[in-house]
Amino acid sequence: MNIRNIAIIAHVDHGKTTLVDQLIKKSGTLEAHEELAERAMDSNALERERGITILAKNTAIHYKDYKINIMDTPGHADFGGEVERIMHMVDGVLLVVDAYEGTMPQTRFVLKKALAAHVKPIVVINKVDRPVVRIQEVMDEVLELFMELGADDNQLDFPTVFVSALNGTSSLDPDISTQVPNMDCLFDMIINEIPAPAVDVEGGLQLQPALLDYNDYVGRIGIGRIQRGSIKVNENVVCLRADGSKTQFRVQKLFSYLGMHRFEVEEANAGDIVAVAGLADIGVGETICEPSCEEALPLLHVDEPTIQMI
Ligand code: GDP
Repeated sequence: MNIRNIAIIAHVDHGKTTLVDQLIKKSGTLEAHEELAERAMDSNALERERGITILAKNTAIHYKDYKINIMDTPGHADFGGEVERIMHMVDGVLLVVDAYEGTMPQTRFVLKKALAAHVKPIVVINKVDRPVVRIQEVMDEVLELFMELGADDNQLDFPTVFVSALNGTSSLDPDISTQVPNMDCLFDMIINEIPAPAVDVEGGLQLQPALLDYNDYVGRIGIGRIQRGSIKVNENVVCLRADGSKTQFRVQKLFSYLGMHRFEVEEANAGDIVAVAGLADIGVGETICEPSCEEALPLLHVDEPTIQMI
């Protein structure tokens, strides 16, 4: 399975939710979902039992023989460290911009973090079906914003796609009459323009949780991209802790994403983003390894929170 990992950035109401729904509908995800639902237990019921809400949600889409993991990004600057860690797992971002409203200040912060992480951007000009649009001006605004936020040459060379997430249409041409009733040009752009994850399929497991989730049954769940090798349920692994110690544990559950759902899987391979349960106090930035091959990944640098409450 080929994998692409991307994050999605949008100002509130510019259509992030509608776009992700439409991408699920217009890809092969629902068919793949049904197939999987027969085999695996949908973990939604379990999810509802959770005590706390995760700050960023995963979605995955199947298109041709690709799996595209899509990480949501929080809109607020208070989640600085969160955004940096998300950017650590992905190789590209979709910046969704309303064809009338244009760029908004709220997206600056997250976009700046994405550009600093040198991930490849794709600009999605959404709502081209609106009666009044300012497509050319909005494109100019986006370019200006990228320059202002310090985009590198490769990022400034970003591809743009024009869509109506509401109608499920898209085109590479800003001329609205060229819209076609599918999302293929966006899917193809993702698989062609966003690099494959730079990971090592051979070799012993290395997985660094970049986000945490929690549920009452298994405690903390580490969400991260598999950097090297593969991970299997029931396998004994070692966690190299942030304080330099190590803890052995058994992989109790492994979750992967498809559409808006999270499913238990038996095994996952380098490049994929998975959630691992089994070590109740696992921390962000620690490294899960195969016992025969203990090598810690560098700890993740994160911004201090910008708001603190006492
Ligand atoms: P989010 O806050 O970014 O997740 O935005 P939503 O996906 O919830 O969309 C916000 C509003 O914009 C909703 O009322 C959508 O129906 C509408 N919307 C989203 N995409 C389009 C589009 O392509 N065309 C039009 N006309 N409206 C859209």
